[in-house]
Amino acid sequence: MNLYAKLLLGSICVAFIALRWSAPSFNKESLKGARVLVTGASTGIGEQLAYHYARLGAQLVITARRENVLKQVVSKCLEMGAQRALFIPADMASASDAESVVQYAIEQLGGLDYLVLNHIGPSPYRMWDGDVEHTRWLLEVNFLSYAQMTQKALPTLEKSNGSIVVVSSLLGKICGPFALPYAATKFAVNGFFGGLQHELAMQKSNVSITICTLGLIDTDSAMEKIKGYINMTAYPAQEAAWNIIEAGASRQSETFYPWYTFYACLFRDWFPYFRDQAIQNSYTYNPQVNEDPVTGS
Ligand code: NAP
Repeated sequence: MNLYAKLLLGSICVAFIALRWSAPSFNKESLKGARVLVTGASTGIGEQLAYHYARLGAQLVITARRENVLKQVVSKCLEMGAQRALFIPADMASASDAESVVQYAIEQLGGLDYLVLNHIGPSPYRMWDGDVEHTRWLLEVNFLSYAQMTQKALPTLEKSNGSIVVVSSLLGKICGPFALPYAATKFAVNGFFGGLQHELAMQKSNVSITICTLGLIDTDSAMEKIKGYINMTAYPAQEAAWNIIEAGASRQSETFYPWYTFYACLFRDWFPYFRDQAIQNSYTYNPQVNEDPVTGS
């Protein structure tokens, strides 16, 4: 092994150990009775977040657009041990819906300890087709509603020593093809909440912000999208959700799941040429198959 490879290996080990040592411990009891609002909780990672919080005995308000699905998630949460579980249907493309969800949670729960921002609007997975209107709409759903809910919840979270947990993506840190509007919203989320972490620290605020960087997770919507484009391991939504809850409860500023997302961010700018080649070569792109209006996505 040459010197350069040894140095690289050494720095990977040091980074890993530093990450493990710097992670504060997680007290499950602290979530018993905690007042939690989870967005995008009808399916996928949000649904798993709701079930974990329920098993830990939290008081929950969940939201998404589909009332019938939310109802089913709420009744499962109650069976699993949630102290309370309520739902409120809302469309996050609407600023007033975003605000009223926070208002409802604060009123019903008598305050708020965790604001978990997780929802995303549906977005096609394909070469960008020039649809700026869709990007504008997606920014409303995936980013502006996060800012809106944060603004509404901050005074209450300040009183309760509360936390904002933001579910983001590796695509908000490293550029990739086929999901440009989505990636743009995640870069916006990271920029906004990363900046807000600084501002809250400078104001000696009681509120913590945890930014969660996720890789590919096995939710139905993600699996359906990437079909035919990329073949890589998807990690379980249940485990991703647990990692998010743990990081939020221990007030970590950032968490990465699965493990490779941390290293991808760490080495992102070391070898840009090889990084870009690796990204482009990991996807399959065949215009006939991938973009056929009938058979493609
Ligand atoms: P998902 O399964 O597609 O779930 C999205 C949730 O958002 C659903 O509950 C959906 O419910 C809700 N939603 C959609 N449009 C909405 C709107 N206009 N207003 C309000 N709610 C809306 O997503 P996921 O895969 O679990 O992803 C969850 C989070 O993890 C996202 O922040 C995503 O960026 C992040 N992430 C996921 C992956 C992955 O591979 N899965 C990777 C990296 C990061 P309704 O349809 O009922 O509204």
